[in-house]
Amino acid sequence: MKELVVISGKGGTGKTSLVASFSVLAGEKIMADCDVDASNLHLLFNSSVIRQIPFYGLKKARISEELCVKCGDCEDYCHFGAIDNSFVDGLSCEGCGVCKLACRAGAIEMVEHIAGQIEFSDTEYGPMVHARLGVAEDNSGKLVAEVRKMARQIAEDKNYELIITDGPPGIGCQVISCLSNADLVLVVTEPSRTGIHDMERVLSLVEHFDGRAAVCINKWDISASNTGEIEDICYSKNIPVVGKIPYDMTVYNALKNGIPYIRKKDSPASTATLGIWDSLLKML
Ligand code: SF4
Ligand code: SF4
Repeated sequence: MKELVVISGKGGTGKTSLVASFSVLAGEKIMADCDVDASNLHLLFNSSVIRQIPFYGLKKARISEELCVKCGDCEDYCHFGAIDNSFVDGLSCEGCGVCKLACRAGAIEMVEHIAGQIEFSDTEYGPMVHARLGVAEDNSGKLVAEVRKMARQIAEDKNYELIITDGPPGIGCQVISCLSNADLVLVVTEPSRTGIHDMERVLSLVEHFDGRAAVCINKWDISASNTGEIEDICYSKNIPVVGKIPYDMTVYNALKNGIPYIRKKDSPASTATLGIWDSLLKML
Protein backbone atom coordinates (compact mmCIF):
# COMPACT_ATOMS: atom_id res chain seq x y z
CA MET A 1 0.00 0.00 0.00
CA LYS A 2 1.27 3.48 -0.88
CA GLU A 3 0.37 6.86 0.53
CA LEU A 4 0.61 10.06 -1.46
CA VAL A 5 0.53 13.14 0.76
CA VAL A 6 -0.19 16.46 -0.92
CA ILE A 7 0.90 19.56 0.98
CA SER A 8 1.70 23.21 0.30
CA GLY A 9 3.81 25.77 2.07
CA LYS A 10 0.77 28.04 2.39
CA GLY A 11 -2.96 28.02 1.79
CA GLY A 12 -4.59 28.99 -1.50
CA THR A 13 -2.23 27.15 -3.86
CA GLY A 14 -4.98 24.94 -5.31
CA LYS A 15 -3.86 21.88 -3.34
CA THR A 16 -7.35 20.59 -2.56
CA SER A 17 -8.57 21.04 -6.16
CA LEU A 18 -5.60 18.99 -7.27
CA VAL A 19 -6.26 16.26 -4.70
CA ALA A 20 -9.91 16.10 -5.82
CA SER A 21 -8.76 15.64 -9.41
CA PHE A 22 -6.29 12.92 -8.40
CA SER A 23 -9.16 11.18 -6.62
CA VAL A 24 -11.11 11.08 -9.89
CA LEU A 25 -8.12 9.65 -11.76
CA ALA A 26 -7.05 7.04 -9.20
CA GLY A 27 -8.52 3.55 -9.19
CA GLU A 28 -9.31 1.89 -5.86
CA LYS A 29 -8.13 4.20 -3.11
CA ILE A 30 -9.19 6.00 0.02
CA MET A 31 -8.99 9.73 0.57
CA ALA A 32 -7.85 11.25 3.86
CA ASP A 33 -8.53 14.94 4.41
CA CYS A 34 -5.95 15.95 6.99
CA ASP A 35 -6.49 19.68 6.68
CA VAL A 36 -8.44 19.41 9.92
CA ASP A 37 -8.67 23.15 10.54
CA ALA A 38 -10.34 23.73 7.16
CA SER A 39 -11.55 20.37 5.92
CA ASN A 40 -13.19 21.01 2.54
CA LEU A 41 -12.24 18.19 0.17
CA HIS A 42 -15.73 16.72 0.63
CA LEU A 43 -17.24 19.88 -0.86
CA LEU A 44 -15.91 18.84 -4.27
CA PHE A 45 -17.59 15.43 -4.16
CA ASN A 46 -21.10 14.07 -3.78
CA SER A 47 -20.48 12.74 -0.31
CA SER A 48 -22.47 11.63 2.69
CA VAL A 49 -21.22 11.04 6.21
CA ILE A 50 -21.93 7.43 7.19
CA ARG A 51 -20.25 7.33 10.62
CA GLN A 52 -18.80 9.68 13.19
CA ILE A 53 -16.59 9.00 16.18
CA PRO A 54 -15.47 11.46 18.84
CA PHE A 55 -11.88 12.59 18.98
CA TYR A 56 -10.56 12.94 22.51
CA GLY A 57 -7.96 15.61 23.11
CA LEU A 58 -5.94 16.05 26.28
CA LYS A 59 -7.85 15.51 29.49
CA LYS A 60 -8.96 18.68 31.30
CA ALA A 61 -9.04 19.46 35.00
CA ARG A 62 -12.35 19.45 36.88
CA ILE A 63 -12.79 20.65 40.47
CA SER A 64 -15.30 19.02 42.78
CA GLU A 65 -17.34 21.65 44.63
CA GLU A 66 -18.01 19.21 47.47
CA LEU A 67 -14.34 18.43 48.11
CA CYS A 68 -12.77 21.83 47.38
CA VAL A 69 -11.80 23.80 50.52
CA LYS A 70 -10.95 26.96 48.50
CA CYS A 71 -7.29 27.05 49.57
CA GLY A 72 -6.25 28.54 46.23
CA ASP A 73 -3.18 26.31 45.78
CA CYS A 74 -4.29 25.06 42.37
CA GLU A 75 -4.69 28.62 41.10
CA ASP A 76 -1.15 29.46 42.25
CA TYR A 77 0.34 26.40 40.57
CA CYS A 78 -1.47 26.69 37.24
CA HIS A 79 0.98 28.33 34.83
CA PHE A 80 -1.72 28.82 32.22
CA GLY A 81 -4.02 30.99 34.32
CA ALA A 82 -6.78 28.49 33.74
CA ILE A 83 -8.16 28.48 37.30
CA ASP A 84 -10.02 31.36 38.84
CA ASN A 85 -11.75 31.09 42.21
CA SER A 86 -11.84 27.27 42.02
CA PHE A 87 -13.31 27.33 38.54
CA VAL A 88 -11.43 25.78 35.58
CA ASP A 89 -11.68 27.56 32.24
CA GLY A 90 -11.74 24.63 29.81
CA LEU A 91 -10.42 26.72 26.90
CA SER A 92 -7.31 27.75 28.86
CA CYS A 93 -6.62 24.41 30.54
CA GLU A 94 -3.73 22.63 28.82
CA GLY A 95 -4.30 19.37 30.67
CA CYS A 96 -0.88 19.32 32.36
CA GLY A 97 -2.29 17.86 35.59
CA VAL A 98 -0.18 20.02 37.94
CA CYS A 99 -3.25 21.30 39.79
CA LYS A 100 -4.31 17.73 40.57
CA LEU A 101 -0.88 17.08 42.13
CA ALA A 102 -1.08 20.34 44.07
CA CYS A 103 -4.54 19.78 45.52
CA ARG A 104 -4.21 18.27 48.99
CA ALA A 105 -7.99 17.89 49.30
CA GLY A 106 -8.14 15.51 46.37
CA ALA A 107 -10.76 17.73 44.77
CA ILE A 108 -9.39 17.71 41.23
CA GLU A 109 -9.75 15.01 38.63
CA MET A 110 -8.66 14.96 35.00
CA VAL A 111 -11.61 14.16 32.76
CA GLU A 112 -11.95 13.08 29.14
CA HIS A 113 -12.56 15.89 26.72
CA ILE A 114 -14.07 15.64 23.24
CA ALA A 115 -12.04 17.98 21.00
CA GLY A 116 -13.57 17.11 17.64
CA GLN A 117 -15.14 14.49 15.43
CA ILE A 118 -13.65 12.03 12.96
CA GLU A 119 -16.04 11.41 10.08
CA PHE A 120 -16.27 8.59 7.54
CA SER A 121 -17.94 9.41 4.24
CA ASP A 122 -18.92 7.62 1.08
CA THR A 123 -18.21 9.62 -2.06
CA GLU A 124 -18.70 8.97 -5.75
CA TYR A 125 -14.92 8.35 -5.94
CA GLY A 126 -14.52 6.07 -2.93
CA PRO A 127 -14.40 6.25 0.85
CA MET A 128 -13.02 9.27 2.64
CA VAL A 129 -11.95 10.00 6.21
CA HIS A 130 -12.05 13.56 7.41
CA ALA A 131 -12.36 15.44 10.67
CA ARG A 132 -13.69 18.48 12.40
CA LEU A 133 -11.78 20.08 15.25
CA GLY A 134 -13.94 21.85 17.82
CA VAL A 135 -13.88 25.63 18.13
CA ALA A 136 -10.68 26.92 19.79
CA GLU A 137 -9.33 23.38 20.09
CA ASP A 138 -5.74 22.49 19.35
CA ASN A 139 -3.89 19.17 19.41
CA SER A 140 -4.56 19.01 15.69
CA GLY A 141 -1.36 16.99 15.05
CA LYS A 142 -2.85 14.13 17.05
CA LEU A 143 -6.12 14.42 15.12
CA VAL A 144 -4.22 14.27 11.80
CA ALA A 145 -2.47 11.12 13.01
CA GLU A 146 -5.84 9.60 13.89
CA VAL A 147 -7.35 10.43 10.48
CA ARG A 148 -4.38 8.85 8.72
CA LYS A 149 -4.55 5.79 10.98
CA MET A 150 -8.27 5.30 10.25
CA ALA A 151 -7.73 5.74 6.51
CA ARG A 152 -4.95 3.14 6.54
CA GLN A 153 -7.14 0.74 8.48
CA ILE A 154 -9.96 1.02 5.92
CA ALA A 155 -7.51 0.68 3.03
CA GLU A 156 -6.15 -2.50 4.61
CA ASP A 157 -9.63 -3.90 5.20
CA LYS A 158 -10.62 -3.22 1.59
CA ASN A 159 -7.29 -4.29 0.13
CA TYR A 160 -6.78 -0.90 -1.47
CA GLU A 161 -3.29 -0.04 -2.61
CA LEU A 162 -3.44 3.74 -2.44
CA ILE A 163 -4.19 6.44 0.11
CA ILE A 164 -4.42 10.01 -1.15
CA THR A 165 -3.95 12.44 1.71
CA ASP A 166 -4.89 16.09 1.47
CA GLY A 167 -2.44 17.58 3.93
CA PRO A 168 -2.64 20.91 5.70
CA PRO A 169 -0.83 24.05 4.53
CA GLY A 170 2.15 25.49 6.39
CA ILE A 171 4.91 23.83 8.39
CA GLY A 172 3.18 23.28 11.74
CA CYS A 173 2.52 20.16 13.77
CA GLN A 174 -0.28 19.04 11.43
CA VAL A 175 2.16 18.89 8.52
CA ILE A 176 4.79 17.11 10.57
CA SER A 177 2.14 14.59 11.58
CA CYS A 178 1.36 14.03 7.87
CA LEU A 179 4.94 13.28 6.88
CA SER A 180 5.66 10.16 8.90
CA ASN A 181 5.65 7.03 6.73
CA ALA A 182 4.37 8.87 3.64
CA ASP A 183 5.67 7.18 0.49
CA LEU A 184 5.67 10.38 -1.54
CA VAL A 185 5.05 14.00 -0.62
CA LEU A 186 3.82 16.27 -3.39
CA VAL A 187 4.44 19.94 -2.64
CA VAL A 188 2.09 22.24 -4.53
CA THR A 189 3.44 25.73 -5.02
CA GLU A 190 2.80 28.80 -7.12
CA PRO A 191 5.31 31.19 -8.69
CA SER A 192 5.08 34.14 -6.30
CA ARG A 193 7.81 35.36 -3.94
CA THR A 194 5.87 34.04 -0.94
CA GLY A 195 5.14 30.81 -2.80
CA ILE A 196 8.85 30.22 -3.39
CA HIS A 197 9.75 31.07 0.20
CA ASP A 198 7.06 28.80 1.63
CA MET A 199 7.96 25.98 -0.75
CA GLU A 200 11.58 26.12 0.42
CA ARG A 201 10.49 25.95 4.05
CA VAL A 202 8.22 22.97 3.50
CA LEU A 203 10.83 21.16 1.39
CA SER A 204 13.32 21.63 4.24
CA LEU A 205 10.78 20.07 6.57
CA VAL A 206 10.30 17.06 4.28
CA GLU A 207 14.08 16.72 3.98
CA HIS A 208 14.45 16.93 7.76
CA PHE A 209 12.10 13.97 8.17
CA ASP A 210 13.80 11.99 5.38
CA GLY A 211 10.70 12.22 3.17
CA ARG A 212 10.62 11.77 -0.58
CA ALA A 213 9.33 14.91 -2.29
CA ALA A 214 8.14 16.05 -5.68
CA VAL A 215 6.96 19.53 -6.67
CA CYS A 216 4.12 20.72 -8.86
CA ILE A 217 3.80 24.38 -9.90
CA ASN A 218 0.27 25.70 -10.12
CA LYS A 219 -0.56 28.72 -12.30
CA TRP A 220 3.02 28.56 -13.53
CA ASP A 221 2.45 31.07 -16.33
CA ILE A 222 1.58 33.98 -14.04
CA SER A 223 5.37 34.40 -13.65
CA ALA A 224 7.61 32.43 -15.98
CA SER A 225 10.72 33.86 -14.26
CA ASN A 226 9.64 32.76 -10.79
CA THR A 227 8.69 29.38 -12.24
CA GLY A 228 12.23 29.13 -13.58
CA GLU A 229 13.56 29.95 -10.13
CA ILE A 230 11.42 27.19 -8.57
CA GLU A 231 12.74 24.72 -11.14
CA ASP A 232 16.33 25.77 -10.38
CA ILE A 233 15.80 25.34 -6.63
CA CYS A 234 14.28 21.89 -7.15
CA TYR A 235 17.08 20.90 -9.52
CA SER A 236 19.70 21.94 -6.95
CA LYS A 237 17.96 19.80 -4.31
CA ASN A 238 17.47 16.87 -6.69
CA ILE A 239 13.69 17.12 -6.31
CA PRO A 240 11.65 16.39 -9.44
CA VAL A 241 9.18 18.97 -10.74
CA VAL A 242 6.45 16.61 -11.88
CA GLY A 243 4.41 19.18 -13.72
CA LYS A 244 3.26 22.73 -14.27
CA ILE A 245 -0.40 23.66 -14.38
CA PRO A 246 -1.27 26.81 -16.33
CA TYR A 247 -3.68 29.47 -15.16
CA ASP A 248 -7.03 28.20 -16.36
CA MET A 249 -10.49 29.61 -15.64
CA THR A 250 -11.85 26.06 -15.97
CA VAL A 251 -10.46 25.37 -12.52
CA TYR A 252 -12.38 28.27 -10.98
CA ASN A 253 -15.59 27.41 -12.78
CA ALA A 254 -15.33 23.80 -11.61
CA LEU A 255 -14.64 24.97 -8.07
CA LYS A 256 -17.67 27.25 -8.24
CA ASN A 257 -19.80 24.29 -9.28
CA GLY A 258 -18.32 22.03 -6.59
CA ILE A 259 -16.73 19.47 -8.93
CA PRO A 260 -13.11 18.38 -9.50
CA TYR A 261 -11.78 20.34 -12.49
CA ILE A 262 -10.37 17.18 -14.11
CA ARG A 263 -13.94 16.35 -15.11
CA LYS A 264 -13.76 19.24 -17.57
CA LYS A 265 -11.81 17.23 -20.08
CA ASP A 266 -9.30 18.73 -22.48
CA SER A 267 -8.87 21.95 -20.54
CA PRO A 268 -5.23 23.10 -20.19
CA ALA A 269 -5.28 22.41 -16.43
CA SER A 270 -6.78 18.94 -16.92
CA THR A 271 -4.21 18.01 -19.55
CA ALA A 272 -1.37 19.12 -17.28
CA THR A 273 -2.87 17.25 -14.34
CA LEU A 274 -3.05 14.01 -16.32
CA GLY A 275 0.70 14.30 -16.95
CA ILE A 276 1.37 14.99 -13.26
CA TRP A 277 -0.71 12.01 -12.17
CA ASP A 278 1.16 9.78 -14.60
CA SER A 279 4.52 10.94 -13.18
CA LEU A 280 3.36 10.42 -9.60
CA LEU A 281 2.17 6.90 -10.31
CA LYS A 282 5.57 6.09 -11.78
CA MET A 283 7.30 7.51 -8.69
CA LEU A 284 4.99 5.59 -6.35
S1 SF4 B 1 -6.14 23.15 45.50
FE1 SF4 B 1 -7.91 21.81 45.68
S2 SF4 B 1 -8.91 22.47 47.54
FE2 SF4 B 1 -7.48 24.09 46.97
S3 SF4 B 1 -8.75 25.51 45.77
FE3 SF4 B 1 -7.82 24.10 44.34
S4 SF4 B 1 -9.32 22.47 44.10
FE4 SF4 B 1 -9.89 23.59 45.90
S1 SF4 C 1 -4.43 20.80 34.26
FE1 SF4 C 1 -2.73 22.27 34.14
S2 SF4 C 1 -3.51 23.85 32.80
FE2 SF4 C 1 -5.27 22.69 33.42
S3 SF4 C 1 -6.04 23.80 35.18
FE3 SF4 C 1 -4.66 22.20 35.95
S4 SF4 C 1 -2.68 23.21 36.16
FE4 SF4 C 1 -3.95 24.52 34.85
